[in-house]
Amino acid sequence: MDERYSFDEEKKRFKPISKICIYCNGVKTDNDDTNFYIKLYKEKKRLNLFIYRNVKYSSIEIGIPRCSPCKKIHEKVELDSKIIFLGFLILMTTISFIYPSGIPQYFSITVLLIDFIFFLLFFAGDFSFKYFLPIKYLQKRLIKKHKILAAIDSAKKDKTIEDCLSNGWTINEPNP
Ligand SMILES: [Zn+2]
Repeated sequence: MDERYSFDEEKKRFKPISKICIYCNGVKTDNDDTNFYIKLYKEKKRLNLFIYRNVKYSSIEIGIPRCSPCKKIHEKVELDSKIIFLGFLILMTTISFIYPSGIPQYFSITVLLIDFIFFLLFFAGDFSFKYFLPIKYLQKRLIKKHKILAAIDSAKKDKTIEDCLSNGWTINEPNP
């Protein structure tokens, strides 16, 4: 690992040393919990595992410096995008139940299918939404007015994370 991180023994993750929030360029004065932590994975079968203090990792968590106002924006955007999409789903579901004869059947089936996926993701936890395109799209739209990057987009712009990604690490958990 490079000198821009230190290892947090207690939480088993790499925390950034920089105190400059990469989203707004402001100086962060708060603690490390406002950082954006991203988990990277590498298949165990591959040999050149990440080595830090003689410990081998097949998954690591790397922090990107983020101040608390930016963290609040990210959380609000994540929540708002889910609420907007949920409202849209409820509307579409209601329409397909009220006017079953007025709309094509494939529409109702599609709506029910999306309902089902949404609730599966909802129970699978927050991070599973990164695979769900409508939510990602809404997040990108909502974050625009705040003039900062979306959390997940910034991860790909971080030099260390970019290096890891080009060396076989992935943001998605490898299939067992
Ligand atoms: Zn910030």
